[in-house]
Amino acid sequence: MKTPTEENFKNVFQQLEAAQGALVGMINYMLAEQKHNPEKTELTNTEKYELLSFFRCPDCHEKHFLEGPHGGASVNIKCVECGSKFNICPPYFAARI
Ligand SMILES: [Zn+2]
Repeated sequence: MKTPTEENFKNVFQQLEAAQGALVGMINYMLAEQKHNPEKTELTNTEKYELLSFFRCPDCHEKHFLEGPHGGASVNIKCVECGSKFNICPPYFAARI
């Protein structure tokens, strides 16, 4: 068995680097995918802002809503494009329902 040369080590490190790059790429892809296709969770502040300030759906960014039942100052809305439902009381309150 011959002693590994510096060239051998270089090759191994290159392979490790490539594997690491692929792994990072895969993780980023999965994270991006998750962002794109989220488990519908509590609205973040950014999403609330988008909904209450621009009346855009935080999930698909469209502006087409159907109005549902009103309760006091709040109203239930449903996004026509993606079907997400929210209870909003502009400009203070928004929650997913
Ligand atoms: Zn939507």
